[in-house]
Amino acid sequence: MPHANTTGRGTLRLVLGDQLSDDLSALSDLDPARDVVLMAEVRDEATYVKHHKQKIALIFAAMRSFALRLERRGVTVRYVRIDDPDNTHSIVGELHRALDVQPFEEVAITECGEWRLAQALTAFAGVARVPVDIREDWRFICSHDRFRRWASGKSSLRMEFFYREMRREAGILMDGKAPEGGQWNYDAENRKKLTRGLRPPRRLRTAPDEVAQGAIADVARLFPDHFGGLEDFGWPTTAEQAEFVVADFLEYVLPSFGDWQDAMTPGEPWMWHGLISTSINLGLIDSMDICRRAEAVYRAGKAPLNAVEGFIRQILGWREFVRGVYWLKVPEYRARNFLDADRALPWFYWSGETDMACVADVVATSRDNAYAHHIQRLMVTGNLAMLLGVHPDAVDDWYMTVYADAYEWVEMPNTRGMATFADGGIVGSKPYAASRPISTG
Ligand SMILES: Cc1cc2nc3c(=O)[nH]c(=O)nc-3n(C[C@H](O)[C@H](O)[C@H](O)COP(=O)(O)OP(=O)(O)OC[C@H]3O[C@@H](n4cnc5c(N)ncnc54)[C@H](O)[C@@H]3O)c2cc1C
Repeated sequence: MPHANTTGRGTLRLVLGDQLSDDLSALSDLDPARDVVLMAEVRDEATYVKHHKQKIALIFAAMRSFALRLERRGVTVRYVRIDDPDNTHSIVGELHRALDVQPFEEVAITECGEWRLAQALTAFAGVARVPVDIREDWRFICSHDRFRRWASGKSSLRMEFFYREMRREAGILMDGKAPEGGQWNYDAENRKKLTRGLRPPRRLRTAPDEVAQGAIADVARLFPDHFGGLEDFGWPTTAEQAEFVVADFLEYVLPSFGDWQDAMTPGEPWMWHGLISTSINLGLIDSMDICRRAEAVYRAGKAPLNAVEGFIRQILGWREFVRGVYWLKVPEYRARNFLDADRALPWFYWSGETDMACVADVVATSRDNAYAHHIQRLMVTGNLAMLLGVHPDAVDDWYMTVYADAYEWVEMPNTRGMATFADGGIVGSKPYAASRPISTG
């Protein structure tokens, strides 16, 4: 990819690997004649935990495709590849290097998703030789200010009440001032047991395009000792590919999403789930757009309310709620260990070698697909980690490593909060602990 060669003093615009959206705030006032977009594949980000090979390949492939998309619009992109000999291997290092190469009037950045990198970017803004404008990430439905206002003065934060406000504000699934159908939440209808012989639908996976194949080859070469396989890579790496997956889900899968939302069965990794978290988290698809399209499916009479409400609640409710909690409580949240858990993570979380069939199944799908669905993450590996008393740092490390959609802002409130109660009841009101009764006789 060509490096920038403009000489005007425009704006240097940073686009991070999970900021691959046309409407990113850092790109909002972009002037292709003067500005340069900086994108960098750096080892600091690829290795601060040893991410699954598919996750690194996904992010590199999606970044490379996004850079090409910008270049097709006439934008100059300074794209630093992972194997560039001059790569400093940190985002801040690459910002300094870009400023050394040519003069800019300003640097524009969209706030990043993780506290760790946010600290580094704030420090950079303090020492950079030009003004640095760190802008809000408006791709989220609830801003930090809005969440703080909602949380202010509350003794406990409950997703359900937050979600109702989001529904009201967005006017989603509303019947005037009342919730559609008279209830806010249809979870009670979403716990059906799988009927014998029922199989989940075949799912649309995405064959890697040429750009993705290149990224997969680079990761195989440069990160051979990271967890997981690359053979079954099937994640969308462009907005167009992600749209195919969303459209397929809305038409063929969403109608049954609610009924089987809490079900699991051996050898069925996808069930009736959306398979969209990687694409939403990268910015390839827009969360509010998906909610509105899901609502339209319901309004057209093509999916029942329990399915559509349940699906929208995951995005408008849970996704926005955990982000709000993360940013409200970091950095203190990262050290929470309410149950004083101190054991190491058992080796079978990596090897899958255990007689517990459901655990072996989750480890296998996590290794092969960098994916497990929500119930597997919550009730199998999360629940077991809590019952065993595994230290939350080790739990976080495992989840951040194995899933292609893992970013600390969404991973941590789910592990420390929802799954293991390490946060002492900020995300959930009680621990989700479950086990099979064992005979003591
Ligand atoms: C212990 C644990 C760790 C998790 N770690 C992550 C993570 O690192 N990254 C991540 O994106 N999700 C995480 N989740 C949430 C959820 O499991 C995944 O978003 C989901 O499995 C992704 O698959 P899907 O797109 O098929 O989801 P669906 O079941 O189809 O749900 C649709 C969308 O809703 C959102 N969503 C659903 N549940 C949650 C939730 N609890 N928190 C936030 N968003 C939610 C996601 O964007 C998801 O794509 C975690 C959950 C648990 C219990």
